[in-house]
Amino acid sequence: MVRISLDSVNALFAAIAEREALYIPTDTAPGIAQFKKWQSGMEMTERLKTSRSAKDFFFPQTENLVDFKVSGKKIDIIDPREETEDFVIFGVRACDAKSFEILDRVFLSEPVDTYYQNRRAHGTIVTLACSRPSESCFCQTFGIDPAAPGGDVSAWKREGFLYLEPITEKGRTLLSGLSALLEECPEDAVEAEKESIRGILKKLPLASLTPDAFGGGKTEKYFDSEKWKSLSEACLGCGTCTFVCPTCQCYDIRDFDTGHGVRRFRCWDSCMYSDFTKMASGNPRLTQKERFRQRFMHKLVYYPENNDGIFGCVGCGRCVEKCPISMNIVKVMKTLGEDET
Ligand code: SF4
Ligand code: SF4
Repeated sequence: MVRISLDSVNALFAAIAEREALYIPTDTAPGIAQFKKWQSGMEMTERLKTSRSAKDFFFPQTENLVDFKVSGKKIDIIDPREETEDFVIFGVRACDAKSFEILDRVFLSEPVDTYYQNRRAHGTIVTLACSRPSESCFCQTFGIDPAAPGGDVSAWKREGFLYLEPITEKGRTLLSGLSALLEECPEDAVEAEKESIRGILKKLPLASLTPDAFGGGKTEKYFDSEKWKSLSEACLGCGTCTFVCPTCQCYDIRDFDTGHGVRRFRCWDSCMYSDFTKMASGNPRLTQKERFRQRFMHKLVYYPENNDGIFGCVGCGRCVEKCPISMNIVKVMKTLGEDET
C-alpha cells in the first residue's frame, strides 16, 4: 500500500494526465457531480455519487458505429473507430465498479461487442471507498463492500492522506509509474477507515434489505402478480431510472441519411418507453405495467437466471433519488417480497 497527502493530489493527477487521459468526478452545477477530463485546477467533488454512472466510459450514450458511403451502385463501408487512447477513471465507487462486471457479461459474451471491448481494454479504474455511504445506498444487499471497492486500484481517504492499493496488473503498472510521488505505508493503514465505513453501513435505512426472495426460477412466482398494477400505476415512462442506472444496457440502432451516404448510430434506449418493443408486427408490451415489470424482472429474476445468480442491480440508489414519482427497485423488492414472508 502507498499513500500521498491530500494536499498533493493535484500533483498526482497531473502526473497521471501527462501519460494518459484522466477523468475525475467534479462538481458541474449546484448539487450535481459528473466525471470530467481532468485539467489543472479541477477539484474532485465531495459528493458521494455522480448523477450519471461511470458506464458512459465503456458504453456511451450515443456513438457512431459505421458509415456507408454510396457512389452510384458502389457502397463503401467505413469503420469510424480510431484506436481508443488509454485512460484512467479516478474515484469510481464500489457500486459502479461492480456494474462493469454486469455489463461485461452482456457485451463481452459471444458475439463480443468490439466497441465496448476496445474501451474496456484501454480503461484503468481507480475506485474510491465511500467514507459516508448515504441513506439511498443499498449496495450491501448485493454483496458489495464499499470499504473494499475493487477496480484496478482501490483508494481510501483518511486523515489528510489518500491511500492506494493496486488490485490488478493494470493497477500495478499505473502506480509504479507514479512511485516518485507516493510513499510506502503498512498494509493495514486503512483498517480503521474500513471499520468506520462498515459501521455506517449497518445503520443505513436499507441495511436489512435482502434479495433472498428473488433470483433465477422466480418468473412463474412474480410474472402474473397483481401487485405490478399498483406498483406501476403512476410510472410516467420517462426512462430516468434506466438512464441513471449503471447496469441498464438496452440500446437502439438507427440509420440516418447524410445526403451522400448513411451513418449508423447507437444510442441508449429504455424498456420503460412505449415503443421500445415496437416491431412491424405490433408491440408485445402494450401497457406501462408490462414495461415496468420487464425492467424489474430483468434485474431481479432474468439476469440472475442467466448469470450464475448475479443480480442486475448494484444498489447505487440513483433510481431511488431520481425517479420523479419516487418509485424504485427498493419499493418493488419490498412489495413483491412480502409474499415470501
Ligand atoms: S419508474 Fe420513475 S424514473 Fe422510471 S420510468 Fe417510471 S417514472 Fe420514470
Ligand atoms: S436499479 Fe437503481 S439502485 Fe439498482 S443499479 Fe440501477 S439505478 Fe442503481
